[in-house]
Amino acid sequence: MGTHNRFKIKKYVCCLCAAFFVCITTAQASSFLGDTRIWDAPDHTRIVFDVNGAVKYTIFSLQNPERVVIDFHNTRMSGSRHQTPNKKSFIRNVRYGQRDNGSFRVVLDIKKPMRTVSSLLAASKMKPFRLVVDLWPHKRVAKTASPIPPSGKKQRSRQDRKQGLVIAVDAGHGGEDPGAIGPTGLQEKWVTLKVAKRLAHLINQQAGMRAVLIRKGDYFVPLKKRVALVRRANADLMISLHADSVKEKWVKGSSVYTISERGATGDKVAAALAARENASDLVGGVVLKHQSYGRMTRNVLGDMARQDAFNSSQIMAEQVLHEIKRVGALKYKRPKRARFVVLGALEVPSVLVEMDYISNPSREKKLKSKAYQQAIARALLKATRKFLRRMSLLETPITPSKKEPAS
Ligand SMILES: [Zn+2]
Repeated sequence: MGTHNRFKIKKYVCCLCAAFFVCITTAQASSFLGDTRIWDAPDHTRIVFDVNGAVKYTIFSLQNPERVVIDFHNTRMSGSRHQTPNKKSFIRNVRYGQRDNGSFRVVLDIKKPMRTVSSLLAASKMKPFRLVVDLWPHKRVAKTASPIPPSGKKQRSRQDRKQGLVIAVDAGHGGEDPGAIGPTGLQEKWVTLKVAKRLAHLINQQAGMRAVLIRKGDYFVPLKKRVALVRRANADLMISLHADSVKEKWVKGSSVYTISERGATGDKVAAALAARENASDLVGGVVLKHQSYGRMTRNVLGDMARQDAFNSSQIMAEQVLHEIKRVGALKYKRPKRARFVVLGALEVPSVLVEMDYISNPSREKKLKSKAYQQAIARALLKATRKFLRRMSLLETPITPSKKEPAS
């Protein structure tokens, strides 16, 4: 082999090595775009992209026609499940394309000009890294929840009174956040919404009472936004619905919680549950826009007003336990307390009901059944009626509906 040939081979090997090195560095630097999901709330649409790490991206709007463009830098497509928008979505269509510069472009064709708020969420136990893009119609952006009165007491107008007592019914989790998942895959967010809708329907059949659903469909509502919505509804009572999960499959029974404002109560089980429920925002995905709700939850109540609300919540919790034990087993016979963010409207009597353990196969089956969902809703209605009477919140006795027996 001559010198010239040796040189050529050496050069060729060098080139191969260089090419190989470039390939490796490109592969290492690349991000991957996984599955795409779309969640439609009444006031905005959320699109979520699974990604494999802290991807760099650029987002901008284009007009004629209205579009939102997201360029994922140095990214390739790897996911195969890309949800298409439904009719009620603010998104008309989603288009995907690999660009020559190595970036991956997603174009959202939108129905009208929208404001975008995006946030990259770090991976959690249940979810990979995700880019969350919320699309808000321009008109709604300026609106924020109505502030609570300086006294912290509700100042209800005659008009409000005419509309009846307001019960805020909060279906836990939703959208990106499925909540606990049962052995056959039943999701907590589905159960909570079913029972919430049944309870709201029963409440709306009662004279002098009106239900406000804090979540109406399969989309995520950040915890502090839920608190703001309870306040905006001027609620007389708030019931938050959940279904717990533990490793031990045999554990079963309902439990009821109220807020513990002053931190640890020494109840480690309740504290662990509150930590699980409060983690909802991490899984569901809170983007920057909602941080403003944090200011809404400042404690502006006097000690006496706060104590009143705590006592009322305790009374409601006891009524719920009393009624719900007729439907199924109780896990704890007394109400428990912990720092639940969702119970943060301190001036509104509020309870969090863990309807049962979705991790228990037989309870999962029950939670899935319409009959059991209705039985829980009825028990919660009865508890609500008893509570409202006991608190003398009614100027006239509540007229029971024909379908529901008087309690
Ligand atoms: Zn929950």
